[in-house]
Amino acid sequence: MNSMSKARTALIIGGGIAGPVAAMALQRAGIEAAVYEAYDSTADGAGGGMTIAPNGQDALDAIGAGDLVRAIGTPVTSMGLRSWTGKHLAQFAPPSRLPSLQFVWRAALYRAIYDEAERRSVPIHHGKQLTDTTDTGSGVIAHFADGTQAGADILIGADGIRSTVRPLIDPVAPQPNYAGLVCFGARMPQSGLPSTNGVMYMCFGKRAFFGYQIFDDSSAMWFVNLPHVLPMTVAEAQAIGAKEWMGTLRTAFADDRTPALEMISRTDPRQLLITGPMENMPRVPTWTRGRMTLIGDAAHAASSSSGQGASIATESAVELARCLRDLPYEQAFSTYEQLRRPRVEAIIKLGARTNSNKTAGPVGRVLRDLVMPAAMKLINPEKMAWQFDHHIDWNAKAAPLT
Ligand SMILES: Cc1cc2nc3c(=O)[nH]c(=O)nc-3n(C[C@H](O)[C@H](O)[C@H](O)COP(=O)(O)OP(=O)(O)OC[C@H]3O[C@@H](n4cnc5c(N)ncnc54)[C@H](O)[C@@H]3O)c2cc1C
Repeated sequence: MNSMSKARTALIIGGGIAGPVAAMALQRAGIEAAVYEAYDSTADGAGGGMTIAPNGQDALDAIGAGDLVRAIGTPVTSMGLRSWTGKHLAQFAPPSRLPSLQFVWRAALYRAIYDEAERRSVPIHHGKQLTDTTDTGSGVIAHFADGTQAGADILIGADGIRSTVRPLIDPVAPQPNYAGLVCFGARMPQSGLPSTNGVMYMCFGKRAFFGYQIFDDSSAMWFVNLPHVLPMTVAEAQAIGAKEWMGTLRTAFADDRTPALEMISRTDPRQLLITGPMENMPRVPTWTRGRMTLIGDAAHAASSSSGQGASIATESAVELARCLRDLPYEQAFSTYEQLRRPRVEAIIKLGARTNSNKTAGPVGRVLRDLVMPAAMKLINPEKMAWQFDHHIDWNAKAAPLT
């Protein structure tokens, strides 16, 4: 194809969340896309819990996939913040005109999106770890670790926070750094505790952060962000074992007057998900080079504290497809970046602020507990609305911004 024509074919590297969503969106845009995933098989069972915000659901609705999430999700009507003393600091929710956030297990979300992509005949190839790319002048070739290769008009890096495509686009691209927190999650099939009536609570504990929600059927979920000075990989964290971590977690929450200790004590260690280090991703200055661009965590990983990582990944996947539908690929890439960068950077900034509250040392903690109730009074739903009421008008023609 000549350089001012629209892309007709795309390679998508990474079959996590953003990759298959982008492939489905491109299919709707009339562009043939195939997904290449490093793992040999599907990632069933991996990961903890996450929320899909109204804006993420809206992005999925643009490609007719929003109901998938609502079918597997549990509504979160509001978030309640509590201090370690049990004191309610604040409660906030998206404006009532918007749908609820949905809590999903990453494994269930992954499965639902994967199955839908398969149903729509999106090719997903496993055991394809990208190692390098070549720009031929008329297309791009992806080289995989198994010695095979694939070619298309463009290549989209949807390969997550440890992206391979990112340094191929920009050799001096930043790498994620450890946020000082190790993360855990658990589901309790029967908690024996009363429902929180749609509220997800976030507790700034004395030594660690505890989030939980108890559903109407008495099942429950909780997650922990535990300050830990030395970085560790998921594998290292998992090697320590559930039994030992459960002991550490009980000690961490021993003094808190929140349900943390009781919920952890009632949890079967076999239900503990050790999801590993939380990472901060510095700003990625370059998303695009030639025929390659980035979406999802590869371009803009928000800390899980933002609750927006998967939602903004789906937004970017769909917006990129809309731009590629209507514009030659160079213009599509630059328009996509202009549309997306201000928004994702504002959301990332919010999440980073929450993280620094979670790792606060003793002095910072006292300050945080003093300042938080006052700060939280500012959170009225309309002030938060910009995060949640983002709408993608799929039928609107994408045009370069001036
Ligand atoms: C196993 C796993 C568990 C997770 N658990 C949670 C969680 O509990 N809570 C949470 O908030 N977020 C979690 N995340 C992150 C979350 O999925 C993302 O923040 C968000 O959904 C954006 O998704 P993404 O598609 O951009 O990236 P990801 O979901 O990270 O997907 C990237 C995909 O690219 C693949 N890949 C990487 N390198 C290559 C390569 N060189 N060649 C080919 N493929 C490659 C990876 O195997 C992965 O499947 C998890 C991610 C993974 C991969």
